[in-house]
Amino acid sequence: MSELKLKVFVVLDDILKKDLADNRAYDCLKVICSASIDALNTQNEELITYTRYQLKLILDGQQSVASMDSKDLGKWMSDKKLSAFLDRVITKHTKKFKEIGYIPVVKTNDTIGGKGNERRYWLDITEYAQTQNEEDQKLDENEISYERVDPSEIKLSWFYRFIFKKGEIRNKSFRGLMMLIVLLGGFISWALYVCAFSLVLVREGQNFTTLDLLFIACLIGFSYLSFKYWFTPLWNLPEHRVIKAPMTFISLNEDHADIEMYRDRERNQLTRITRFKGICPICSAEVVLRIGQPDHNLPLVGRCVESPFAHVYSFDRVLMSGKLLSR
Ligand SMILES: [Zn+2]
Repeated sequence: MSELKLKVFVVLDDILKKDLADNRAYDCLKVICSASIDALNTQNEELITYTRYQLKLILDGQQSVASMDSKDLGKWMSDKKLSAFLDRVITKHTKKFKEIGYIPVVKTNDTIGGKGNERRYWLDITEYAQTQNEEDQKLDENEISYERVDPSEIKLSWFYRFIFKKGEIRNKSFRGLMMLIVLLGGFISWALYVCAFSLVLVREGQNFTTLDLLFIACLIGFSYLSFKYWFTPLWNLPEHRVIKAPMTFISLNEDHADIEMYRDRERNQLTRITRFKGICPICSAEVVLRIGQPDHNLPLVGRCVESPFAHVYSFDRVLMSGKLLSR
């Protein structure tokens, strides 16, 4: 039994490491899972259990638990939240557990609560029930789940590689400040350049050549493009949370990437370059994030690469899921 357990937990641990998520249930599961694996590896048959207090202490540090009472802890995490998240992970990666024949489950003790009777959580396994899962899959035909690609896997252009370390920056840091300087500095210096250029043209006055006209056309064209595809999206990032990365961000042999702003456990705002992807439930091709215009009035939608205008899905970065959009 313990061998089977180890197998299932290792698979789960692997999934959690690759399929990053931003929620407490994910963080808690990761802690419980890796501790359970460590125990099983050292032939420790004892059950590895955690109380909410212990989990919060590990995840958020000493300071955060000092001011918490048991009611707050109940709100902070519950077995329902843990099980709901674990279920989502299992449905998404059914294949891997189907091979073993067992799936992980969150177990908790029967307790009325109160001091000394704290609720404890641990991971166990149960036999994979085929029928139940197949029914779930039928229901899910119009639904898609997304996953994030690890930021370190995306190749950045050489310039942004200096700013983004491992594809990530903390907004309130030296690198974050650099990014702001690049953004505002780029905008201001371009505006100054356009002003200076127009001044020169005005000075030259009468002898206006076709070459000058060509220059002006290029200038206007370039200003428009950089404003629309570089400045505006980045400016909208704090509000939209996810945008398509402008072409200048990624290396030439990379197709596309997304920029995401998120909050970590210490409530720091971080910006990372990642890529959201999913599998189209209709045709099993890859689904990537694209601009919602012109057929959908949304900033970003998930579009199937094989049928980008018929297989279109909404995108929810918190739930990491979406629904089929009809025109
Ligand atoms: Zn499709």
